[in-house]
Amino acid sequence: MQAKAIKDYIETHGYEGIRLKAVFFDMDGVLFNSMPYHAEAWHQVMKQYGMNLSREEAYMHEGRTGASTINIVSLRDRGHEATPEEIEEIYAEKSRLFNLNPPAAPMAGAWELLQQVKADGLMRVVVTGSGQLSLLERLNYHFPDMFVRELMVTAFDVKYGKPDPEPYLMALRKADVLPFEAIVVENAPLGVRAARAAGLFTIAVNTGPLPVSALTSEGADLVYPSMDSLAAGWEELYRQMK
Ligand code: CA
Repeated sequence: MQAKAIKDYIETHGYEGIRLKAVFFDMDGVLFNSMPYHAEAWHQVMKQYGMNLSREEAYMHEGRTGASTINIVSLRDRGHEATPEEIEEIYAEKSRLFNLNPPAAPMAGAWELLQQVKADGLMRVVVTGSGQLSLLERLNYHFPDMFVRELMVTAFDVKYGKPDPEPYLMALRKADVLPFEAIVVENAPLGVRAARAAGLFTIAVNTGPLPVSALTSEGADLVYPSMDSLAAGWEELYRQMK
């Protein structure tokens, strides 16, 4: 089924074929199991401010800027957007709640997948909306010798962020590869939308509570239920992409 999906994709898109050189990894929900903390913090902070954002809906918004998420909910629940002061306050409180948690653990299967990708001689690029200063240190601690600063796209690099294709277009430039030479691993619907808009073959890992249709409707080319299952299926997949 996976082989057929790739064949269909290549026929539809008119590529001669994927000639894989790089794998672009999203971070939250792909490399780290941090999304439950984000979803809970969003749910709690909106409740504090008299609005309702379910944990599941927080997953649907994953990848948006904080301001954009707050305004969407405010418009729906209160009939108007939040003021800049409110946005700042709500987002600061959301971050405070998030930071009460212990550091998120690496996602099960991420290290196993990265080791295979590296052994296959492929570049590893992180493409995240996160802007934590200690990002690279944290990645190096959990995934030693997998990532370098030059091959990272973070909040500091982009103006629009996901679901705009900008972060993935920048990843293509940083890695100096063409769209058929790279694939994306994403967990969020809006992340899938960004990657597909950049013309990239996109593997979704459904590590959260959303139905698979939330990912396929955004154009995910393949969906795996977990990073573990992608790691287990990687060599078969890669054989068709080199
Ligand atoms: Ca994510």
